[in-house]
Amino acid sequence: MTGDDVLDGLDPEQRAVAEAVRGPVCVLAGAGTGKTRAITHRIAHAVRTGVVDAQGVLAVTFTTRAAGELRQRLRALGTPGVQARTFHAAALRQLTYFWPKVIGGSAPSVIESKLPLLIEACRLIRKNPDRSELRDIAAEIEWAKVTQIGHEDYIAAAAKAHRAPPVPAEEVARLYEAYEQLRRERHLVDFETILELTAAVMTEHPDVATQIRQQYRYFVVDEYQDVNPLQKLLLDTWLGGRDDLCVVGDPNQTIYSFTGATPRYLTGFSVEYPNASVIKLVRDYRSTPQVVSLANLVIAKGRSPHRLELLAQRPEGPAPVFAEYDDEPAEATGVARAIRKLMDKGVAPREIAVLFRVNAQSEAYEEALAKAEIPYLVRGADRFFERPEVRRAVVLLRGAARSASGEPLAQEVHNVLGGIGLTPVPPGGGKARETWESLKALGDLAEDMAIEGADLPAFVAELERRASEQHAPPVEGVTLASLHAAKGLEWDAVFLVGLTDGMMPIIYAETPEQIEEERRLLYVGVTRAREHLGLSWALARAAGGRKGRRPSRFLDGLTGRPARSISSPSAQSASSRRPVATPVHCRVCGKTLAAAAEQKLGRCSTCPADYDEALLEALKVWRTATAKEAKVPPYVVFTDVTLQ
Ligand code: ATP
Ligand code: MG
Repeated sequence: MTGDDVLDGLDPEQRAVAEAVRGPVCVLAGAGTGKTRAITHRIAHAVRTGVVDAQGVLAVTFTTRAAGELRQRLRALGTPGVQARTFHAAALRQLTYFWPKVIGGSAPSVIESKLPLLIEACRLIRKNPDRSELRDIAAEIEWAKVTQIGHEDYIAAAAKAHRAPPVPAEEVARLYEAYEQLRRERHLVDFETILELTAAVMTEHPDVATQIRQQYRYFVVDEYQDVNPLQKLLLDTWLGGRDDLCVVGDPNQTIYSFTGATPRYLTGFSVEYPNASVIKLVRDYRSTPQVVSLANLVIAKGRSPHRLELLAQRPEGPAPVFAEYDDEPAEATGVARAIRKLMDKGVAPREIAVLFRVNAQSEAYEEALAKAEIPYLVRGADRFFERPEVRRAVVLLRGAARSASGEPLAQEVHNVLGGIGLTPVPPGGGKARETWESLKALGDLAEDMAIEGADLPAFVAELERRASEQHAPPVEGVTLASLHAAKGLEWDAVFLVGLTDGMMPIIYAETPEQIEEERRLLYVGVTRAREHLGLSWALARAAGGRKGRRPSRFLDGLTGRPARSISSPSAQSASSRRPVATPVHCRVCGKTLAAAAEQKLGRCSTCPADYDEALLEALKVWRTATAKEAKVPPYVVFTDVTLQ
């Protein structure tokens, strides 16, 4: 693939991004418009045309999965070796390398959770919060750290920022102080400290800064709408006054502001860099017009100042399905049944996701999927090679490779993995299930490599290579993930579950800003679906429980009638559960198409065939004309959750 070939398959605006090989560049665009695609092609183009070295590129994003996705796309473009990492992973790598040289001794160990130290800190001040309070206190400390507020300034800063601390602000401040003291004494770093220390080491040791800046010359940040002040500080320190920076983001996908992230760096990019090229993308390549129009409506019904209208590029698909259940177990069973039907139609489990607001909602779905014998994974590819069972497997496989028995590769690997939990039938749930998923992924990889004739040493070498690149093998199964963890990702079929008031928006979202953030979370969820989208909720928690819940207020008007009045599919007669025939809409202006010829064409005979300026104009006119109408979207279906 040459530099020019890399530009094939990009639309004119995406091409403009890829061709603007030197920064500063800002891409401001809605979900599914190809932002991530544009930056990966931009990197590949710059490397292939010799503008930069692959090793000189640092691409950063927010979740391990999103970083994995970036690396995968770059590899597919024939550009391996580019560092695509989370802020934390990139900083930790640098810190670990420079610590012995400039500080001496070994680098501190990383703590992934603040809770154990916080529990100790609570004991010190004789406080005994429950687990949910503890989590909230940890979140407050995280907020203070990313906003760079020390414990001594916490009380005033929290009041100014209208924080609602779970315990009195004075207590948060004392716990924050005690937590930090314990952390330092034990030579530990949390995620925020990793960033803070990396920036500090670079500032205090100009030689370190010079080395890092000489290595990285070309910066790309995906999901820039969710950068927090600490990450921005580190990014500025990495840049050291240079401006070879390309950022992409969607202000409507800001979903981490409760942790201190802010879209102001994205929206203010052209003020910070007056010579920046600002490029907007509007064509949505990910989702069907039905999903896109629902996404547009979710944003339009909110208060977002960023009215990015997405223009669907894909052909018509099935209507999104709204479904109400009597209780949570019924909802989980219904969703599992719908997933089974999709799988029967040939949709692979890895192309299906169930997304929820909080991780605690996962359990009911784990149980229902296990019962329905549907493979699933809860953790995705996060830190795959750091999982204890994977480390253990690698050690054992390495040992087995040295004694290399002559049995076929797949058999040898299964012999080893069988001894540490890879049973032929997956266990029902919990830790054993998670271990099984990891081992199964290793077993599957061995089977794939066996087909290519690899032996055990080659398999172990491949695992070591993948571990160094954090390139997890694909884990086959339906993804269960929180909406926060799903950003940047996409699946053929997405089920957004538990959409009740109290969960969406979450009960503790009180201010208008917090409610808007919840709405954006729903937008993120809706826009993960390529084709099939299910939205569901349950009126009671437990089977037979009081049906005191109401559907999410964000669904009011989206389901075609007040969400409250929708009756349970299970309570309806079979005939009323039959899917409503999906109306066909013009893919250009959105009007319902009555004439069969137009339905076949997929657009009004008077609308332009191509998505070009004429389309934009037509859409603008149509939107203006219909802006005042309470628009009932074309996907009103009150049926079983069977996705078509
Ligand atoms: P998000 O805001 O959710 O992160 P995004 O803007 O980063 O979305 P991508 O993930 O880059 O969007 O692209 C969405 C999907 O559309 C991907 O499957 C991508 O391959 C596809 N896509 C993007 N641009 C094009 C194009 N020009 N032609 C065909 N497919 C495209
Ligand atoms: Mg993206």
